[in-house]
Amino acid sequence: MEAIVRYGFYPFVLFAAATGAVLALQSGTPPTLVVAAASGILIPVCLTMELVLPETPRWRLQRGEAFADLLHMLLSSPIPMAILQATLFVAAVAASGAISRAVGFGLWPTDWPLAAQSLLAIALAELANYWIHRGLHESRLWPLHAVHHCSRRMYFLISMRKHPLQSFLTYGGRLSLLWLLGATPESIAVYTVFVTANSLLQHANLRMETGPLGWVLATPELHRLHHSRRPDELDTNYGDSLIVWDRLFGSYRAPDPARPMHDAIGLPEIEVPQTYLCHLKLPFVWKRLHEARGR
Ligand SMILES: [Zn+2]
Repeated sequence: MEAIVRYGFYPFVLFAAATGAVLALQSGTPPTLVVAAASGILIPVCLTMELVLPETPRWRLQRGEAFADLLHMLLSSPIPMAILQATLFVAAVAASGAISRAVGFGLWPTDWPLAAQSLLAIALAELANYWIHRGLHESRLWPLHAVHHCSRRMYFLISMRKHPLQSFLTYGGRLSLLWLLGATPESIAVYTVFVTANSLLQHANLRMETGPLGWVLATPELHRLHHSRRPDELDTNYGDSLIVWDRLFGSYRAPDPARPMHDAIGLPEIEVPQTYLCHLKLPFVWKRLHEARGR
């Protein structure tokens, strides 16, 4: 069983999620229902697998921290997304229509098969996401994104942990590109299912060896380096679902078996209390925490 999970779980879940989404959409299921159903299946599957076969006992779910992540799942992304849908989406769709009329043709290849449109959506959204994520690490915005990195453990729920202000930047940036280009709701839904599945797996406390998939995909092995406390590993492997942009722009880093990750996860600078309120406050008390640490 362990060998099946180790080598088969990652490709199976990604393939099943993407294929299931395409088939459901092609049969007329509304995109919002497909996205909701995918999360409703993927989250209990990851939870069960981590409970049955955790890779690192120290990374098991802890009640207080998991409760904070549950609040992130319910509040930190859905509320900013609803606001973005009501504002930025409306503006971007209007702008997209105006651009199409001005140039005389539609910007998005709506005549392509859904699978091909979805691959294009994944590649473009990941390109936008790459630069947003890199900007969050390499600019003064780091305290905002440090919320996502402040756990000392890796488990699937960490994928839900984002400061709400970061959600505006991340979702707004990557989706506005697709909205501006006139991407179909179906291709955006497949992208959303794919990135959700990969993000849950990237953070999961499961032993997964992904071999050549790491040439293209931002696999769990690569993403663990991104959650390292070691500064030379932290600012690498920015991809949420693809690693190709890291390879192209020079931030790719391969895992080193001589440097185990089990005690290397978290923030390099400080320890953060693991409550939702402390996560919300973190960017605003960041300077004070560092001054206190320096005393
Ligand atoms: Zn990051």
